[in-house]
Amino acid sequence: MKADRIFLALAGLLHDIGKFRQRARWGADRRPHEEQGAEWVAERLAPNLTFLPPEDRRRLIEAIREHHGTPYDRDAIAVILPDRLASGERVEREDEERGDPARDPMRSLLAALRLPDRPLPEPSAWAYAAVPLPGASPDSWKALFPQPVNSVRPDYRALWEAFEEGITGLAPEIWQDPEATLIALLALLRCFAWSIPAATYRDEPDVSLYDHLRVTAALAVCLGELLEDSEALRRFAEETRSERFPEEPVALLIGGDVSGIQRFLYAISSEGAAKSLRGRSAYLSLLTDGVVEFLLNELHLPPTQVLYRSGGHFYLLAPLSARERLPDLRDRLDETLIQAHGGDLAIAIEAVVLNGRDFHLKEGNLPERWAALSRQLGERKARRFHGVIARHYDRLIGPFGGGGERPRCEICHAEEERIGPIHRSVERREEETVSKCSLCRSFEELGSMLARRSVYQIRRRCPPEMRGTFTWRTVLRGMGLELQFYDEVELCNRFQPGDRVIRINAADLSPVGRIPVHDFQYLPTFTPLEPDGTIVDLNRMAETSRGIRAWACLRMDMDHLGRLFRFGLGERYSLSRVSTLSHLIALFFEGYLRVLCEQVDPERRHLYLIYSGGDDLLLVGSWDRVLEAAFRIREDLRRFAAGNPSVTLSGGISLHPARFPLYQAAAEAHAHLEEAKAFRHPDGHLKDAFGFFGVPLSWEDAAWMRQWAEELFRLIRPPDPQGPRVARNFLHRLMEIASFQQKEGHLSRAARLQLDEMIQLVGFHRARWRLVYTLARQPSAAQPILRRFQEELLAEGGKRLRLLGPLARWVEWMTRGG
Ligand SMILES: [Zn+2]
Repeated sequence: MKADRIFLALAGLLHDIGKFRQRARWGADRRPHEEQGAEWVAERLAPNLTFLPPEDRRRLIEAIREHHGTPYDRDAIAVILPDRLASGERVEREDEERGDPARDPMRSLLAALRLPDRPLPEPSAWAYAAVPLPGASPDSWKALFPQPVNSVRPDYRALWEAFEEGITGLAPEIWQDPEATLIALLALLRCFAWSIPAATYRDEPDVSLYDHLRVTAALAVCLGELLEDSEALRRFAEETRSERFPEEPVALLIGGDVSGIQRFLYAISSEGAAKSLRGRSAYLSLLTDGVVEFLLNELHLPPTQVLYRSGGHFYLLAPLSARERLPDLRDRLDETLIQAHGGDLAIAIEAVVLNGRDFHLKEGNLPERWAALSRQLGERKARRFHGVIARHYDRLIGPFGGGGERPRCEICHAEEERIGPIHRSVERREEETVSKCSLCRSFEELGSMLARRSVYQIRRRCPPEMRGTFTWRTVLRGMGLELQFYDEVELCNRFQPGDRVIRINAADLSPVGRIPVHDFQYLPTFTPLEPDGTIVDLNRMAETSRGIRAWACLRMDMDHLGRLFRFGLGERYSLSRVSTLSHLIALFFEGYLRVLCEQVDPERRHLYLIYSGGDDLLLVGSWDRVLEAAFRIREDLRRFAAGNPSVTLSGGISLHPARFPLYQAAAEAHAHLEEAKAFRHPDGHLKDAFGFFGVPLSWEDAAWMRQWAEELFRLIRPPDPQGPRVARNFLHRLMEIASFQQKEGHLSRAARLQLDEMIQLVGFHRARWRLVYTLARQPSAAQPILRRFQEELLAEGGKRLRLLGPLARWVEWMTRGG
């Protein structure tokens, strides 16, 4: 990596560190943040940065001190420009912050998003508690949920002390390597500054200092190429100072997208699908990591350039010169993937040029640039491998499999083959019932490794080369990356100097013995384990469910995510805000989901989180727990967005007997999710619904059913033997009434009679009559509860009568057996 890029990344990352310190020392030290930042870097950080010559350390300190001062110093300008672009806001110097920096908490950006057709959210009255990102304790995840602003008392002093301890506690060898230093600084800022407002004097303190610093650093590295042209630099500084952002190219926004995910995950046979699916989905995200590392390495970019990576997508900011190199890098990645996976998996990479002007809040075009990039990625996915198709005709188009009988994998259906120096072997081991290829076998190994040993991840650079037995490691090696998952003992035995160590699921960089920890990562892993450590299979999860022996498959994703990003921020669309937003959403799906599963299934026997990332998830397990999890996820996402009606999610759940194939279940749950996405509410808004075993419902109706499912269950299986009790066949009566009511509805629709409403009304009255009759015949001790049930069912013209069928079925499943 070029020395000046390291310098620029550091300057960007540290330029506003004084704001953090200033908040902590408010009252005792009223000096401006740039002076406090420069002083702290000079005293505490610079002595560690021994990879910088003393002259550069001095320059770094001065750039931080001067980043609001004379814009004629080259180093200061190198920070001032990206700072202005990152926030996209008015650039007039304000003397000091207008709010109260010592007390103002960071407001919730999710609470402030607004889609044009949704009601206004509550005014920005929600804020974060200003604590570090969660560690190992599940309780620490409360920090993710905003609180009413008046109840939040941020303790910036304690937070700053913890940050300083984090710096002091880093393993000494981290400071010897510029890249390791940047990775660790990014991680510490993420941990301690994720919920500190970047500024309190602008309109809304809803951008985190962490996101502002990393985006400024990324832009500083991009603008570094401008520094060579001192004329352009001066012009740029002048214009941005007078609030004009020049129409000049400044950076490249690179986007990447893995394609073929659905097929890759689900086009496998049911044998061992549950065992290998977690490994397969983990592989897709490791592949994304591998591509990001490959691009950073090849383009000589520091780790600050990664804006986002999650769920098979990533975004990087690169200097303009990277553009010439992209076609070649794309070709090399295509080659690697084709050789290994044929046409099954591909990675689309595209880039758009960002102009200075684009960053301007009012006149800018950032949302349009982002949309253009998505469009290009879509087109690239549609004609994947375009560049290399001629060279790999046979591998992509066939003929496949020709010549003789070769053993075939009974999981992914691939034949044994030799692809250049890679060998995909297929074998059936003694204790196994099916033949498996080396790749499928390695996915099983990866899945159980994640379940049992995911305490540390090691990343090691290696010469890019693919050879030997085909496993999940092969393609990553082809990209120059060696990955391992270790527990503490293995880490101590296997660590080699130069390895990057990532702690999984706890924001903590303290070394393990003498081994440095560079970074931390949340891994969405929740795997049910037998006492002997093997993964619980689906049949077992079906057997141990409540009532009916069945398992369920749940898929969920956020509604209108693209629109939410593009329009939800309105006139406040800045790169720092977009980064804050995507960081928060990724925290929920990559981090919090695992904790939620643990609360629903503390024994770790019933739930299996196969995939969660980006903004979607796939969860399987005992049907009652999966259903419980669906409700919890929806409630918690609502809390996470402070009840904002523009931020919603939909889900689809399907029910299956023990031996049902998982890929078919995933398709069925997906169909139910699609039905939920097509659901229209009485007020006209779409989605925000639950595909409840084939019946699309609003979440409010689903919650009503959930409450009554428990009440009716208690009537049929009273916890207190003396309590009121009704016979189970009562449920069959309810189902009859429901189907009768439904038939009437169908009849009137089919006949398209003018008397539609009349007939429905008659149907409703008949159903009501039967309902009243059925309920009245139940034991008198149950009558108070049943009367309430009847009233709620028939209220508002009987609109809940359509829920009677699914509700009765639900309780019937709960009470089956035992
Ligand atoms: Zn296979």
